[in-house]
Amino acid sequence: MKAVRFHSHGGPEVLRYEDAPDPVPAAGEALVRVRACALNHLDLWERRGLPRVTIPLPHISGSDVAGEVVTSPSPDVPPGSRVMLQPGLSCACCPACLSGRDNECPQYEVLGYRNHDGGYAELVKVPLQNLVKIPNHIDFTRAAAFPLTFLTAWHMLLTRGRLADGDDVLVLAAGSGVGQAAIQIARLHGARVIATAGSDEKLERALELGANHVIHHHKQDIVEEIKRFTDRRGVDIVIEHVGEATWPKSMRALARGGRVVTCGATTGSNGVIDLTAVFAKQLSILGSYMGTKGELLQAARLFFAGQLKPVIDRTFPLADAAAAQQRMEESGQFGKIVLDVP
Ligand SMILES: [Zn+2]
Repeated sequence: MKAVRFHSHGGPEVLRYEDAPDPVPAAGEALVRVRACALNHLDLWERRGLPRVTIPLPHISGSDVAGEVVTSPSPDVPPGSRVMLQPGLSCACCPACLSGRDNECPQYEVLGYRNHDGGYAELVKVPLQNLVKIPNHIDFTRAAAFPLTFLTAWHMLLTRGRLADGDDVLVLAAGSGVGQAAIQIARLHGARVIATAGSDEKLERALELGANHVIHHHKQDIVEEIKRFTDRRGVDIVIEHVGEATWPKSMRALARGGRVVTCGATTGSNGVIDLTAVFAKQLSILGSYMGTKGELLQAARLFFAGQLKPVIDRTFPLADAAAAQQRMEESGQFGKIVLDVP
């Protein structure tokens, strides 16, 4: 098959479009012909190399995949079925998995990260339980743009953040994958949403997606704007994934009893915590990583019904994966960047 691989860590130039061995599915696994694969920040971290993480080389990234089943261990999902892939891989038999918290499995892995080659390729193999059938009116590009970010935002808002009707939610970086998903999920569950972005065009797009109020994070002070919008109360939930650059503001933006939920630290992992504010205002700091298979299926029903709509920034052919990653590194995108696989 053709695939985009890297043989050493580095910039986008290490990505090579080349021949690679076809994946061979093990018992219980399906083989899927990839039609579209969306990018995530994780792809950039893998390519650059991560401290304390060994990625076997050469490596194929890609966690968000849609395509057609080639071979399957189950007649319920026969060859030719149109599917998107649940990006979380777990053992399916430990206490966490059997309690429906598969993203807490000791063996939890993300497709395309570390030991599992991903979707920057013509073929990918996954366990049967990771196949999610998609209806005919959902195209492969949008299906690939859905799983990881909507699953992440769903778990952050509803499970970790315990979003309630009427809550005020601050969503950082509206144009990011998690940002565009969080705005939609929060609005659908009755929240008021305040979103930040770094350009007027992105702020406009955030309003179109349903944000009630927007903040230009280069021109306006996030905390002051939050106070103004909430009558000095602060927000109930902050959707954090930026890290060092925004952490102090995220903490200060919280109302009493507020929850900051973090799923990433794009600008760095060191955040200072004012413990007095934590106890006096009864704040919660919550980590969130991916989400459960059950949550993905719940969110998918709303996607298939047209109530959640992944935003596509641009598509690139698979062979141009380096240019696609470059676009993500420059932070110019609004929504998901997707590789189309012919
Ligand atoms: Zn498990």
